[in-house]
Amino acid sequence: MVRVRGLRKSYGQHTVLDGIDLDVPEGGVTVLLGPSGSGKSTLLRCVNHLERPDAGFVEVGGEIVGHRHEGGRLHELRPRAVTRQRARIGMVFQQFNLFPHLTVLDNITEAPVAVRGIPRKQAAATALDLLRRVGLEGRAAAYPRQLSGGQQQRVAIARALAMEPQLMLFDEPTSALDPELVGEVLAVVRDLAVSGMTMIVVTHEIGFAREVADTVVFLDGGRIVESGPPGTVLTAPRHERARAFLSAVL
Ligand code: ADP
Ligand code: MG
Repeated sequence: MVRVRGLRKSYGQHTVLDGIDLDVPEGGVTVLLGPSGSGKSTLLRCVNHLERPDAGFVEVGGEIVGHRHEGGRLHELRPRAVTRQRARIGMVFQQFNLFPHLTVLDNITEAPVAVRGIPRKQAAATALDLLRRVGLEGRAAAYPRQLSGGQQQRVAIARALAMEPQLMLFDEPTSALDPELVGEVLAVVRDLAVSGMTMIVVTHEIGFAREVADTVVFLDGGRIVESGPPGTVLTAPRHERARAFLSAVL
């Protein structure tokens, strides 16, 4: 589902991604670990084409992100086409980024109606199903400010799912939450993994990684220094930086 090859990204002199190769099969759950500044968010943003790589490429579902094949050649997509392509990828951020002036229901139906042209009634019915799925049945009419952080993040997940993505990206989805609210959000992410969703999750929740990931990737200084099943990477990391990081967060 995801194929990253030779991905490089710099800001000025600062190399943030220094040749990343990554594969996530359909239904795969990859957890991305690494110290602050190691390039995790930048990698997710390249997968979602919020950043444009300097070299290398990202393929999602057989399409090179930001490009299309035609007549044996690769053409760069126009912004509108990039938006359409990006609609296949759901992203959930640390900050929930809900529209504060819209109800929960309208937050969830906005993009399906505006971007995908789904009839409003149908979008609303789907939204109610999704709210049930994330444990927020009955909160459709609430405004984000009336919800806890954990509830807002679950709305953000429902909103991403409403676009029927092929791939979900999570960037530290529980880092902004009070500790007692972390579990309810991780439970939703776990259910999604069990349902077969392909996903890349940046998190420092090692217990979650151990339980849910099929692959754990450790990023340091813009390079993948460790990658494999959680039992291996989390238990017996070979790389010194990975060992130090794990002993700090465990
Ligand atoms: P992580 O998510 O692992 O903490 P990031 O991908 O956010 O790391 O950032 C990696 C490095 O790239 C950091 O040093 C950060 O300051 C830098 N960086 C990220 N985005 C930008 C940007 N838009 N302009 C300049 N530097 C950036
Ligand atoms: Mg980050």
